[in-house]
Amino acid sequence: MTTLGTAAASPGEMDTGRLPVGEARDGSEVGLPVAVINGRHDGKTLFIQAVSDGDELNGLGVVRRLVPQIDPDEIAGEILIVGITNYYGFQVAEHRNPIDDTKLNRAFPGNESGTSSERIAAATFEIASRADLVLDLHQGSTSCMINETRVRCGTRHRLHEECLELARVFGCGYILDLKGPDGQLARAAPDEGIPTIDPELGGAVGWDETSIQKGVKGVFNVLYYYGFLDGDLTVQPQTRAKSFEQYGSPSGGLVRFPFDLGKKVQQGDTLFEITDPFGTLKSRITADSDGIFWRHRRLPQVATGEYVCSVGTKLDEV
Ligand SMILES: [Zn+2]
Repeated sequence: MTTLGTAAASPGEMDTGRLPVGEARDGSEVGLPVAVINGRHDGKTLFIQAVSDGDELNGLGVVRRLVPQIDPDEIAGEILIVGITNYYGFQVAEHRNPIDDTKLNRAFPGNESGTSSERIAAATFEIASRADLVLDLHQGSTSCMINETRVRCGTRHRLHEECLELARVFGCGYILDLKGPDGQLARAAPDEGIPTIDPELGGAVGWDETSIQKGVKGVFNVLYYYGFLDGDLTVQPQTRAKSFEQYGSPSGGLVRFPFDLGKKVQQGDTLFEITDPFGTLKSRITADSDGIFWRHRRLPQVATGEYVCSVGTKLDEV
């Protein structure tokens, strides 16, 4: 029998339930929605977490589509899923947990007697600790971003190769291989010996169908490669960026990009222009380095100093 919160499944079964994480302001019990798929056969344990950032819904779109497609009788091992991690952020469609105004993915490994976010992080980190592999499904918030997978442990970490392999298997086509900030699940779980990646499934307000399909395929790739399901998988070469350059606006106005996300840019290429409301050019910004046009703001209006776009740099193929 495998249990996860109130969910419990014998071999060959799946179940859903709630993982208690305390009480809401009205005193009602709060439980994160969880699913446990207990395979008929022995194997590894995979943990999938979605909506760590409350406005990042593509991962939930993946989970919602994935679970009904999995037959526990055909699975070797166990799949543990938290469908909505940032419970309070999700309720109000905000990135951070509004109870403590914290980004949940800076709170790992958490603290079971700490703040709201630390308690949620501790509860899901305990599940991650039971796993052999972890997928923390994110996206570039509500901005516009390519589909990519992040390796956050840093290239000198003892688990770097395993994390990079997992990212290659997930197979979004692009990998950002750059040590992340403290408190990320993809930083904390490798310290416990668990290969962990952040698939970043595009960027959208609500759901993006292409990104959700990429995410579902990525999870199935992991299930095939690591022996949860019978089948072969050929891992395709991917473009890796080992750094990231962010650009802000030197002036206020309306931004215009000359090309689409995923385009290769060369140092000196125009990245964006700022005009006034009547089309008069105010600024033209060029790329500092060669790279790939990775992410850009969704809304066209910017103030001086406001974030405009990012370029993935230091490219190679892995
Ligand atoms: Zn995120």
